[in-house]
Amino acid sequence: MDCHDVRDHLLDFQRGQLGGDVATEVRRHIDGCVECAQADLVERELTLLLERRTPQYPAPIGLKRRLMARWPSAPGAGTNTRGHGRRRAPPPRARDVSTPLSA
Ligand SMILES: [Zn+2]
Repeated sequence: MDCHDVRDHLLDFQRGQLGGDVATEVRRHIDGCVECAQADLVERELTLLLERRTPQYPAPIGLKRRLMARWPSAPGAGTNTRGHGRRRAPPPRARDVSTPLSA
């Protein structure tokens, strides 16, 4: 097995999808070949980078859902009860105060 064969099998080798004999040959070549060992390292780094980037999508969506669950309930309910309470409370008091003064 030469460098070209190893590069062809490198991804499958890293994913553990190679048969026992081929995997052993690839490993043996990488152990004795600096260039293929380097290519093996680079390929692993790339795979790690891709794996780190892809799971970032579920996190912001989870955050958004948490914020969406909190936002409409907390301030929305507060303004509704406040609006009713303030509009009904002041008029009776104003009349009570104004009638004794005018009479
Ligand atoms: Zn090689």
